[in-house]
Amino acid sequence: MERAIPTQYSQSDKKDAGASSELNGLFDGMMRKPGRPGQASQAPAGESTSQTSSCSVMESWREERTRSVEDNEISLPSLAAAYTSILRGLGEDPQRQGLLKTPWRAATAMQFFTKGYQEKIIDVLNDAIFDEDHDEMVIVKDIDMFSMCEHHLVPIFGRVHIGYLPNKRVLGLSKLARIVEIYSRRLQVQERLTKQIAVAITEALKPAGVGVVIEATHMCMVMRGVQKMNSKTVTSTMLGVFREDPKTRDEFLTLIRS
Ligand SMILES: [Zn+2]
Repeated sequence: MERAIPTQYSQSDKKDAGASSELNGLFDGMMRKPGRPGQASQAPAGESTSQTSSCSVMESWREERTRSVEDNEISLPSLAAAYTSILRGLGEDPQRQGLLKTPWRAATAMQFFTKGYQEKIIDVLNDAIFDEDHDEMVIVKDIDMFSMCEHHLVPIFGRVHIGYLPNKRVLGLSKLARIVEIYSRRLQVQERLTKQIAVAITEALKPAGVGVVIEATHMCMVMRGVQKMNSKTVTSTMLGVFREDPKTRDEFLTLIRS
């Protein structure tokens, strides 16, 4: 995930050619979903298995909440104890006055940085999908994003640009930012984050196409390693007409730069 040179639109250029058929698969998978009462918050196990085989990112949609508020309370003491060990391991004195409360603060902060584990996409989408005959591209750009690199546990931050071409269904605009929030507040790699956002929108809306571009700074690159202060990593996922039709893709890319 670390790149000295920003890679632009690498995924749309050379990623697996099977993705458009994956998209159709996604549509099928989604169409079965809303009709069935009682399954809004829990996907049957068999379904998630079949999705996983076609693309590992699909499971994200069906991922259950992995952490609850109660879990946070229960795990806080052990998390704090772990931070005390870290302080000792760094050669510090955890009893030093300035550090006395640091393990608890750090543990609480880390739980906040990863609060996306406490939420599910399906909860966000409830009551936010509207039938609408709008068939022009919808773009929300410059969505602030704060995440944590899963390799170094240091921040990744940047901006997310999302576009989709509706197919009779639109999503409340603020919900796009909420989807970004849920996936970014987890341990991540930028490539996966990009794809998870695009897949969630695809599954929720069955649009004609989705484009997601993330420009981000990785503190693990900036503060260590190559120490390139201004390097940005750019990733993109293009699905449906955003992948198949260069004109649609170009329109999206032009609009997010304007
Ligand atoms: Zn890293």
